[in-house]
Amino acid sequence: MKDENFLKENNARQMWHPMAHPGDQAAHPPKIITRAAGVRITDIDDHAVIDAVGGLWCVNLGYSNDVVKQSIADQLFELPYYSAFAGSSNPPAIEAAHAVQAFFAEDGIERVFFTSGGSDSVETCLRLARQYHRLRGEPTRTKFISLKKGYHGTHFGGASVNGNNRFRINYEPLLPGCYHLPAPYPYRNPFNETDPARLAQLIAQAFEDEIAFQGAETIAALIVEPILGAGGVIVPDASFMPLMREICDRHGILMISDEVITGFGRTGDWSGARHWGVKPDMMSTAKGITSGYFPVGAALISGKVAEVFETSKPAEGTISHGYTYSAHPVGAAAVVACLSETLRLDTKANAAARGTQLFDGVRKLAEKHGLIGDVRGGHGLMTGIELVSDRAQKTPLDGTTVKRIHEAVYEAGAMVRMSGHNFLMSPPLTITEDEVNSVLGALDTGFASV
Ligand code: PMP
Repeated sequence: MKDENFLKENNARQMWHPMAHPGDQAAHPPKIITRAAGVRITDIDDHAVIDAVGGLWCVNLGYSNDVVKQSIADQLFELPYYSAFAGSSNPPAIEAAHAVQAFFAEDGIERVFFTSGGSDSVETCLRLARQYHRLRGEPTRTKFISLKKGYHGTHFGGASVNGNNRFRINYEPLLPGCYHLPAPYPYRNPFNETDPARLAQLIAQAFEDEIAFQGAETIAALIVEPILGAGGVIVPDASFMPLMREICDRHGILMISDEVITGFGRTGDWSGARHWGVKPDMMSTAKGITSGYFPVGAALISGKVAEVFETSKPAEGTISHGYTYSAHPVGAAAVVACLSETLRLDTKANAAARGTQLFDGVRKLAEKHGLIGDVRGGHGLMTGIELVSDRAQKTPLDGTTVKRIHEAVYEAGAMVRMSGHNFLMSPPLTITEDEVNSVLGALDTGFASV
């Protein structure tokens, strides 16, 4: 590796960073993370912190799982790549599909379509939804409905169902036929409804109204995150997903559960949908499927949808979609090892216990620090803190102060994710009680610094 001076000099000089302003990189160079172990990352200046972001909601097993690392290394020497397009397969891909299906059998999942990441998985689900309706003789069902504040990746389909203006505005026009409902977000919503159950009812009514307005026969699918992640860790009322499921069923609309964050244990159960007692028609997954050790995603298909494809005519039912790296053997080996480790360590149980500790701890901090406007979470290791300058008015805290606190928290020993005026946390599911306390301590110091 090049020396430290080279790295610092060339940091963000040739490389543009995702979700960053290219003109801002010289003034605010990104942190160079050089190594990681357990739940800790270390930067180029040898400052080690607890990674309360888990990479990007993905490093569920922490950074030191040798079983996963060894499987990846072994597979590289056995078969580094081969395509899985029609006509060929490879052993780890077959094993990975078996393992993933078993993981979600209880959710009604029967088939697995591998991708290279979350955005690909979302795109795959959206495309398969349209094809499903064509195969059933309803080709007019092409529209998609989703939630404001939802995040579904950055491909044109995913961006079109995305519910955050900042991921859309510079790339319009997006896909036609995508409509958005209000998010189940009691802290801010157009109805000024603070009761989560009543808010769920109002959004269900808005969904019914939208269906009546568009015509059910034009709508392919509803796509939702069981807990909205990037939008700020928005946890719906327990009635919300079942209400949406019932409406979808009544109108012949598919339900896609976007489980890129919530899949594989993060919410305290293996899927977010299971958490709410709902069986989706398709699920998009990624992240925890390999704990971030290799880029892999998967679109998961229920028996109901699979049957329509598997009994269709060749020209119509062929899946004319897929990626060079779909079912990549090295990625598939990472999936097999990661899922077996996930089960062995029962990461969902620790996610539930440590998630409650983190959520309760942050709520305690809110009694002390007036800048904390809203604390969200309580279901596994997904916690959101909304920062305000005025609690009564709910005025979002200005970006400069948010950045200052973020930096102070980092100095005090924890990396949290900044998203607008929110701090989001999704540490590895292997985090210990002491480590959660350290994260809370760093947050306390950070808030006290301004
Ligand atoms: N869907 C959801 C719910 C996500 O949180 C994300 C990424 N954070 C994506 C899709 C996109 O995944 P990727 O960044 O791997 O393309």
